[in-house]
Amino acid sequence: MSSEHKKGSVFVVSGPSGAGKSTLAKKAVEFFPDLTFSISYTTRKPRAGDVDGVDYHFVSAEEFDKMVESGAFLEYATVHGKSYGTSGVELSKVIDRGGNVILDIDVQGAALIRNALSTGEHGMDAVFIFVLPPSIEECRERLKKRANLSEDELSKRMKTAVEEIKRAEEYDFVIVNDGLNEAFCEFQAVIEGKKSETKEKWAGLKGRYGL
Ligand code: ADP
Ligand code: 5GP
Repeated sequence: MSSEHKKGSVFVVSGPSGAGKSTLAKKAVEFFPDLTFSISYTTRKPRAGDVDGVDYHFVSAEEFDKMVESGAFLEYATVHGKSYGTSGVELSKVIDRGGNVILDIDVQGAALIRNALSTGEHGMDAVFIFVLPPSIEECRERLKKRANLSEDELSKRMKTAVEEIKRAEEYDFVIVNDGLNEAFCEFQAVIEGKKSETKEKWAGLKGRYGL
């Protein structure tokens, strides 16, 4: 008896801090019942409104290093001086049972996943989406509004933003988050496109297995 069934898809979302990735990801998770958010591990401190176990798993540098040593991460990277990583086991658990997952990760992590998937050993299917702010100035304004960042922290993020934007063309889809509703429509279309691709394929395949 074959227990084979279709694995879920992974949506890798990157873009500069302040572009609106988590806003779009949250809306998508509310909209699509079979979509969940991959909760990363990080050594950064929680911001106002951040909930441990919901937005991130907040861990110490020692705990993070132990996880690295034990091979717990599918990918991990240092972003703005702090460590961030995606648990391989937690991700596999969801996609193995057919669930779709959004990963909000930086360009380094996305490149690691792209390379890991290119070997085919993970049997994972991923779509790479880059979220752009309408301008660098608007990105800075959004960051300023979101949290009390020091001038130093803000300029560090803006410097990284420019470097990240240079890598947008490595992604399958680029979405400019100017008006939130328009950006979400595009985001939705990308996710739905993927879903219907699977649906259509499966509809054509089912007959082979007497289903
Ligand atoms: P990221 O996850 O990319 O760092 P966030 O989703 O936290 O960015 O968004 C940064 C800030 O900008 C938040 O305060 C959010 O409410 C706001 N924001 C997101 N999208 C828009 C938009 N289209 N227009 C105006 N403000 C936005
Ligand atoms: P923030 O601290 O603003 O929540 O996130 C900072 C950056 O870290 C963002 O670019 C976000 O995409 C990235 N990030 C969050 N989680 C992960 C992760 O698990 N791996 C990697 N590589 N980057 C992550």
